[in-house]
Amino acid sequence: MNIKNGAIACFKPLALLLLAILVTSCAWLNETKKQTVEAANAHAIPVDPAHFIREALVGEIVQEERTQADGTKAMFYLIRTYSEPHEHAMGPWSPKSISDGKEAGGIWLHDGQVYDVDGAFIKNMAEFYDDGEWQLYRDDGSVRVTDTKEAFEAAARPDVDPRYNNYVVEGRPEWFGRHVTTYVIPVNPVYQGRPTRLQHDAVAVAFNGVNFDPPAPIHAILDAHTVAPFDHAGGHINPHAGYHYHAATGQTKEIAQADGHAPMIGYALDGFGLFAHLDADGNAATTLDECGGHVDTVRGYHYHAGAPGSNQIIQAFCGQPGSMTVAE
Ligand SMILES: [Zn+2]
Ligand SMILES: [Zn+2]
Repeated sequence: MNIKNGAIACFKPLALLLLAILVTSCAWLNETKKQTVEAANAHAIPVDPAHFIREALVGEIVQEERTQADGTKAMFYLIRTYSEPHEHAMGPWSPKSISDGKEAGGIWLHDGQVYDVDGAFIKNMAEFYDDGEWQLYRDDGSVRVTDTKEAFEAAARPDVDPRYNNYVVEGRPEWFGRHVTTYVIPVNPVYQGRPTRLQHDAVAVAFNGVNFDPPAPIHAILDAHTVAPFDHAGGHINPHAGYHYHAATGQTKEIAQADGHAPMIGYALDGFGLFAHLDADGNAATTLDECGGHVDTVRGYHYHAGAPGSNQIIQAFCGQPGSMTVAE
């Protein structure tokens, strides 16, 4: 036998062995995944409409059969609200002067941290972002903030109107009428075992009927040297969808859990429960999947909101999401 044939003779059983290992581990992985999906669905908890704050609702929560994206039919709750908080006031967002304290402004999120948007923060932007083009205040110390509806709408566009570069973007609730927001959420959430990417729509709803949005487009906002602060509850106004949250800061209705697990704060649009970031001992969940959720026998599959500074409530939907629409 020459060396070449010897190598092939040796290689062949090795390749077969590797193939066998590959096939077995794929089958094992598929089986594990199937078990995970079955376990999640075995403990799935139906949505409880009684958790919503009655006064926050426009009419009763009703059930309706709808056809889903995959063509199958399922029952959904239709939940109508004005997307206005009942537990706290909206705002403030921007201080009016660089000498204002933190009670005059809201918060900003950067690198996982929450910062108070007070006068000193506005004054310090060039240093904060290491970019000398920041100038959010005038010589007299007044803050350059959108103070009309028209200015706000021009500054809040994805392509910020150049006239509003270097502005604090603040929308005020009184500039916009009340609009009915309708959430369509599956009565019985179904865990799918694969993530569905978040769209530009809401990702979840608090018990007060205000939606949690996907991450705020911080980079687009900063590129125009604008900031769009959130109030201390993590919310701000959008010209189309009204008031909404980008962070869960513990100012909305919470349902305490007897076992010390983080409190429940709402529902994701796929019908799975949304819980706070920290449990009763101040610890964050450590076993979250790529959607930002996990399973336990009390709560079934459920999500934990990201830390307030993360600008992220959940990562993706692990169930089939419903929808949110706002009547204009
Ligand atoms: Zn927003
Ligand atoms: Zn949990």
